[in-house]
Amino acid sequence: MYDDLKDKSYGELLEIVASHQHKPLCAQYLFTFIHQKDATEIDAVTPLPKAFRRQLTSEGFVISSINPLGQHNDPDGTVKFIFGLGGGAKIESVRLKDGDRNTLCISTQAGCRMGCKFCATGQLKFQRDLTAAEIIDQVYHAETVCGRISNLVYMGMGEPLDNFENVMRSIEILNDKRGRNIGVRHITISTCGLPEEIAKLAAQQIRPRLAVSLHAPNDAIRSKLMRVGNKFPLEDIVNALRDY
Ligand code: SF4
Repeated sequence: MYDDLKDKSYGELLEIVASHQHKPLCAQYLFTFIHQKDATEIDAVTPLPKAFRRQLTSEGFVISSINPLGQHNDPDGTVKFIFGLGGGAKIESVRLKDGDRNTLCISTQAGCRMGCKFCATGQLKFQRDLTAAEIIDQVYHAETVCGRISNLVYMGMGEPLDNFENVMRSIEILNDKRGRNIGVRHITISTCGLPEEIAKLAAQQIRPRLAVSLHAPNDAIRSKLMRVGNKFPLEDIVNALRDY
C-alpha cells in the first residue's frame, strides 16, 4: 500500500516530517519540490537528508503522476488533454485561451453520479472520485504544454461538490503560496446545484468562486433534464447561494 505525498496539504507534510523527528524545513522542501518544481520521485527532493528519503520510500510514500494519453489542439487555441488513471479510467481536461487568460477546465470524477440527460459524462458509468493529486496533476501537465494556467474551472468530468473533500484539498494545495499559488478568485467550482454542499462550501476557510448550471427556467423542465432537479427545487439552490 502506498501513500501519496502529492495528495498532502502543507500541514499534513509538517505532521509526517515531525513524526520522523525532522525539522519543519523538510516539509517545506517536500511541498516546494512537489508543487513548484514538479518532482515525481522522493529522491528528487535533494535537500532532504538521503536517509530520510530512503526511509519515506521504504515506508511506502510516493509522489504520484497522472498518465497523459494524448492531446488534441484546435486552431483557436483550445487544447484537449486525455489522461489515464490507475484502475483503467480515463478523464479529460480542456485548456481555453482568451487573451491573457489561460483557463483550464479540470475533471474531478471518472464518470458522474448526477446523470444529466444532455451530458455525455452523465451517461457513463460512475467509476470513482479523483484524488486531490489526480486533480492537481491535470494542471501541472497542462502547464508543461500551455504555460502558466491563470484560471481554473472545476467543470470537466464529474460533479465537483460530489467529491467535496478531495476538491477542497486540491484547491488548498493549488492556492498555497509555497506551491503554484493560484489565487482563490481565479478558481471557480461549477456545480449542477447541491444545496447541502454549497452550504458546506460557505463554511470553508478557502472559498472559490461558484457557478451553478441551471439549464432550465423552472423546476418542471429542469427535473426532466437533470435528475438533481427532482431532488432539489430551484428555491433551495437559490437560498443556499444567498448564504454563499
Ligand atoms: S453534473 Fe455535470 S458532469 Fe455530471 S452529468 Fe451533470 S452535466 Fe454531466
